[in-house]
Amino acid sequence: MRTNVVIIGGGPSGLLLSRLLSIDGIDNIVLEKQSEEHVTGRIRAGVLENGTIQMLKKAGVSDRLEKEGFDHDCIQLSFKNHGFRINLKELTNKHVTVYGQTEVTKDLYNIIKKENGNIINNAEDVLPQAVDTDAPFVTFKKDGVEKKIKCDLVAGCDGFHGISRTVIPKSIIKSFERKYPFGWLGILSETPPVSEELIYANHGNGFALASMRNENLSRYYIQTPLNEKIEAWTDQKFWDELKKRLPTEAAETIITGRSIEKSIAPLRSFVCEPMSWEKLFLVGDAAHIVPPTGAKGLNLAVSDVYYLHNALKKYYQSHTNESLKKYSYNALSRVWKAIRFSWWMTTTFHKFPEQSSFDQRIQDSEIEYLENSVASQKVLAENYVGLPY
Ligand SMILES: Cc1cc2nc3c(=O)[nH]c(=O)nc-3n(C[C@H](O)[C@H](O)[C@H](O)COP(=O)(O)OP(=O)(O)OC[C@H]3O[C@@H](n4cnc5c(N)ncnc54)[C@H](O)[C@@H]3O)c2cc1C
Repeated sequence: MRTNVVIIGGGPSGLLLSRLLSIDGIDNIVLEKQSEEHVTGRIRAGVLENGTIQMLKKAGVSDRLEKEGFDHDCIQLSFKNHGFRINLKELTNKHVTVYGQTEVTKDLYNIIKKENGNIINNAEDVLPQAVDTDAPFVTFKKDGVEKKIKCDLVAGCDGFHGISRTVIPKSIIKSFERKYPFGWLGILSETPPVSEELIYANHGNGFALASMRNENLSRYYIQTPLNEKIEAWTDQKFWDELKKRLPTEAAETIITGRSIEKSIAPLRSFVCEPMSWEKLFLVGDAAHIVPPTGAKGLNLAVSDVYYLHNALKKYYQSHTNESLKKYSYNALSRVWKAIRFSWWMTTTFHKFPEQSSFDQRIQDSEIEYLENSVASQKVLAENYVGLPY
């Protein structure tokens, strides 16, 4: 087998890159370790920046998003059980759209299959090889049979635990990491959301987030210690704790019900540099991770696709390497700004185990300043709706 670009990983970044390359007539094959059902069933991100929407439009997958997505002009912040609003629309003239990652991946799978794109699911032992030569290739097993695809370039879109990043020699790659001393316990419930707007709450017991997927599907999170066991959290215990942390008005009106999904995720910030090596290009979670507090993970994966897609297009048009050489620099300069914002949201809204009374006063002042200063709100809003590409 031979193709132009082998894409390792068929999550949102791999699927979107595949679709955009196919539109430009650049041959590609996606190798995904899991089944399609597994990938499209993973409950993850849900807040899309305007830039992400534009990219999905470009990929021809915005019909359902436009009908079923929810545009949010505001978010709410709360502390000391009192809420206030950040008007994104007024401050930036932009909004964010709530549309689940599950739906984004379903839409991408559907269009790629309809247009005879090439996704190989359940691909085992995928390994990019000879990426520092003029004849790179990728090996894998499918139904127990060894296969090999020769290619020009490899895109590593295989997430944080993928294989692609590990191929870059240790002497070249540098990692930057912060692990946070807590996790998020999240539930999905078939109940109407407590608020049409997302509520980010700073509370003495820890952070809470009220978010939604649609009129009858709510996603709620609370901060928990790192070593917390999911079995310790009955639905009732979760709702009781959530109500304590939300502003009083929301706590009094929230409709509770059975959870249909419950999970605990650790929080970390991670970036590797560079995001490319010779003929291998890392995209999305394969190169960086953010805590979900700023809703940036999926959006960053999409902005990486923007930079790589443009660079690949120029490479195939001009047959020179210049655009590809700039990919890592261009992607990283936006990545670091989102890493900073996600870190700031996390440190401002969570309780740290070692938090002193001084730290507490600083956090309180930060949020009070946000409530009363348009300049401060503008900084938050500009980052939340997404910095320009
Ligand atoms: C529990 C959870 C909640 C999240 N919530 C939010 C949120 O609220 N907001 C937000 O913005 N972001 C959130 N994120 C982050 C967001 O989901 C990711 O940033 C986004 O999925 C990144 O897309 P990706 O395509 O780069 O990576 P992934 O979605 O991780 O996709 C990588 C794909 O590669 C495949 N793969 C891995 N290894 C191999 C291999 N060796 N060979 C072949 N295929 C391989 C995987 O199966 C997967 O399908 C969340 C993430 C998690 C885990």
